[in-house]
Amino acid sequence: MIPRSFAYHRPTSVKEAVRLLGSLGEDARAIAGGHSLIPMMKLRLASPAHLIDLANVADLKGIHEDGRDIVIGAMTTQHEIVGSELLARKIPILRETSLLIADPQVRYVGTIGGNVANGDPANDMPAVMMCLNAIYHAVGKSGERRIAAREFYQGAYLTALEPGEIVTAIRIPVPTSGHGYAYEKLKRKVGDYATAAAAVVLTLSGGKVATCSIGLTNVAETPLWAEEAGKILTGSAIDAATLKRAVSAAEAITSPASDGRGPSAYRTKMAGVMLTRALARAKARVGT
Ligand SMILES: Cc1cc2nc3c(=O)[nH]c(=O)nc-3n(C[C@H](O)[C@H](O)[C@H](O)COP(=O)(O)OP(=O)(O)OC[C@H]3O[C@@H](n4cnc5c(N)ncnc54)[C@H](O)[C@@H]3O)c2cc1C
Repeated sequence: MIPRSFAYHRPTSVKEAVRLLGSLGEDARAIAGGHSLIPMMKLRLASPAHLIDLANVADLKGIHEDGRDIVIGAMTTQHEIVGSELLARKIPILRETSLLIADPQVRYVGTIGGNVANGDPANDMPAVMMCLNAIYHAVGKSGERRIAAREFYQGAYLTALEPGEIVTAIRIPVPTSGHGYAYEKLKRKVGDYATAAAAVVLTLSGGKVATCSIGLTNVAETPLWAEEAGKILTGSAIDAATLKRAVSAAEAITSPASDGRGPSAYRTKMAGVMLTRALARAKARVGT
């Protein structure tokens, strides 16, 4: 199918983009890489009368350090994240995750801002951002505010963004140097969304877990931060009994739909398997 007709706007500043979104109201929608929105428009699941293309807004691009944080502009593509030397050194889980998103064609244009703002629980970056305790910068007609990734997702395609607000950047506190990390994703084929996936960032002290943060993708209506599982693992050497308890705690917060990727119970178990694998790989990477 082809999308319904729409008017196309190409602002060059955040101010102009926000003004357009505000004045055109509910019929207007921001478009970034278009790799989630355009398929939805073709299926007529979305029919905006106005598209506000963010591609020419220079302020939304780039990756830089700001004190102990790294700030990634919303229009940074997944391909640019894969190629960033700064991110590879400081937050390598972002490169690992980006490489598991879709295929190179999608990654060349799909953006980090679109991925986190979309609100689709199948997107990979939201759970990773919850795991990293990222903060989203959002700008609307009332100015800028900051929203924790862990508080941003309210339901499928439902986020804390107010009408007319856009995500301008993602701010991530740099994890401790030498931390362990892993993103494990089960998918039916290359380029597919996750049946279940798990993100882990941890640190060790004297062979025991000092800190552990866990995110889960596509096993509920929203991405999940498995806080209790991380707490259970903290202080342990990830021995078999503690691992079992942590995996059970993570599985307990999932509620995946039964769909083409498998029945609900299977997807919950796969979340546990992905978490087990991610923990083992993250632990092995500490200090490397
Ligand atoms: C074949 C295929 C396979 C894919 N596989 C995966 C996968 O495995 N994992 C995965 O995570 N994704 C996958 N995707 C989705 C892809 O990563 C998209 O690029 C991403 O979800 C959205 O980013 P975008 O820049 O394309 O956003 P768009 O499609 O332009 O926008 C998506 C939504 O976010 C809103 N939006 C965009 N930018 C902003 C902003 N800055 N502020 C506020 N709202 C904004 C738009 O209004 C729209 O509602 C796949 C896509 C395709 C086509």
